[in-house]
Amino acid sequence: MKLRFLLFSVPALIIASCAVPSGDVEANFIRVIPQPQHVRQDEGSFTLDKGTVVFLQEADSQYVRIAGFLNEKLSKAAGFTLPVREEKSAEEGRKGIYFRNAGLPDEAYHLNVTPSGIVIEYGTGAGAFYGLQTLLQLLPAEVFSQEKESVKWVVPCCDIEDAPRFKYRGMHLDVCLHFFDVDFIKRYIDLMALHKVNRFHWHLTEDQGWRLEIKRYPLLTEKGQWRKETVIGSLKSGIYDGKPYGGYYSQEEVRDIVRYAADRFVTIIPEIEMPGHALAAIACYPELSCGLEETYETATRWGIFRQVYCTKEETFTFLENVMDEVFELFPSKLVHIGGDECPKTSWKACEHCQGVIKKFGLKDEFELQSWFIQRMERYINSKGREIIGWDEILQGGLAPNAKVMSWLGEEGGIKAAQQHHEVVMTPYPKYYLDYWQADPDSEPLAMGGPTLLKTMYDYDPVPEVLTPEEQAYIIGVEGCVWTEYMPSPARVEYMAYPRMCAIAETGWSKTEKDWEDFTCRLEHHFKRLDGLGVGYCKAFFDPYIEFHDDTPYNKVVTMSVDAPGAEIHYTLDGSDPTEQSERYELPFVINRSQKVRAVAIRNGNRIGNIKEKIFRP
Ligand SMILES: [Zn+2]
Repeated sequence: MKLRFLLFSVPALIIASCAVPSGDVEANFIRVIPQPQHVRQDEGSFTLDKGTVVFLQEADSQYVRIAGFLNEKLSKAAGFTLPVREEKSAEEGRKGIYFRNAGLPDEAYHLNVTPSGIVIEYGTGAGAFYGLQTLLQLLPAEVFSQEKESVKWVVPCCDIEDAPRFKYRGMHLDVCLHFFDVDFIKRYIDLMALHKVNRFHWHLTEDQGWRLEIKRYPLLTEKGQWRKETVIGSLKSGIYDGKPYGGYYSQEEVRDIVRYAADRFVTIIPEIEMPGHALAAIACYPELSCGLEETYETATRWGIFRQVYCTKEETFTFLENVMDEVFELFPSKLVHIGGDECPKTSWKACEHCQGVIKKFGLKDEFELQSWFIQRMERYINSKGREIIGWDEILQGGLAPNAKVMSWLGEEGGIKAAQQHHEVVMTPYPKYYLDYWQADPDSEPLAMGGPTLLKTMYDYDPVPEVLTPEEQAYIIGVEGCVWTEYMPSPARVEYMAYPRMCAIAETGWSKTEKDWEDFTCRLEHHFKRLDGLGVGYCKAFFDPYIEFHDDTPYNKVVTMSVDAPGAEIHYTLDGSDPTEQSERYELPFVINRSQKVRAVAIRNGNRIGNIKEKIFRP
């Protein structure tokens, strides 16, 4: 008998398997993130061992490299690698992993596992690569370990047909507010690729630092990478650390990273901010400003600054020259030109900018911004590239061929799609990974929120108000990682994971959501992240306590926990909650003298931290 089922039809079975350690056949349910489109699990398993051979139908460098990614994992975790050969050299019935071109659409793959072999069918390198990513997730999670593991390398028999929902599945990283070195950028890309995320939006210029070497304007990195000090805490503290802060990527490093990403089917979309968020550049070349201030200095605190590019010829010459070098470094057709948060104060006071408004019959400074972006778009289009910008490029009229990244909620994205412009949904705060993902009372400083894992998971990027024709203009999603409060790689990973897994799933998987199923797969996925040393947030295992306003004397308490199959137990007398404590079932009322302390329990064991919340009137 064949065990045939679709994953979403058997949540109970899967939940029961959550706690089972991987490494034996029984435990090897299919728990892939992002969830493939069609999964059928069959009886039996394939055992990968030293005798297994990888056979390539197309043995060119691309497919040899893809097979190499499997061997890279096996060499660490299994202590052996598999020989890679051309398929035509295979003797009949040889046990192996076969990569075959079946003419599937770009990025799609078909993975079939039987006891005698594994076949990955694809149409492009990306499809073969994603088939391999799924195969890695079908193996015991220990395959992601950095040390040799003594497990049996079994793969459950199955048939998986898979293709992405969206062509644009992105992650953003701001390297300006804080800088991250080449090794971390590569690791960030590796983790994206593991989740079938294919666009890396690299935010390279800001008020607080310019991070990209431009040969024609050496000051941008000699000087513009530096800020003399950095604010401690939020905008409001007024306290600074007194330490110069800088960092930049040489063109050689950028080329290396672009190649590294391309090998993993990730396209890098560079962002050069204009006309706002330009203070670091203006500090180097003050002639690019409206010239209203005596000195310009790279920003030392977060926020928005009135010192923006002036709309004069020098600015366009500068930006066009910068773009020429950007085009040489980045093969991406799409380049991000920022366009967000550009105050109009300088333009209002600038004789030259007012002259441009008059000369071109523009209505106001918003139309001046649109004129600026359209002028840059013409140049960028003339070089065979296209622009994408944040919502604000809609102000004063959208440039004719521009794509929009909708961050101010969904409104801009809806408007752009209605005007038949392509849109990437990155709505704040739902897709902002700089927001808290747990109770702010016990979390490190973040931008706001909280935006919980479930909120991120539940978000559907295709607004219902759009007609089916307009909906087709929503080309994908992207998670934003602004790094004001992420001074280290560890903090970036803590904030990005596991929420990024939810974004990846929305970008790849079909529209129906199944939170229970996702959490079950995610809990298993944590073992993979553990193996890779990702310091993700573990709020998944903790109760989330919420107080809802009622009268001045009481609040209504609700609690939830992400971990599947967990119960919440709590106390109101300050003692440590245990399995014997009251079990949370329904919202309840507390008064000012009570403190809620709660913990998640599963199968009699505490699985996370005790969380505590105090009523502060
Ligand atoms: Zn000006």
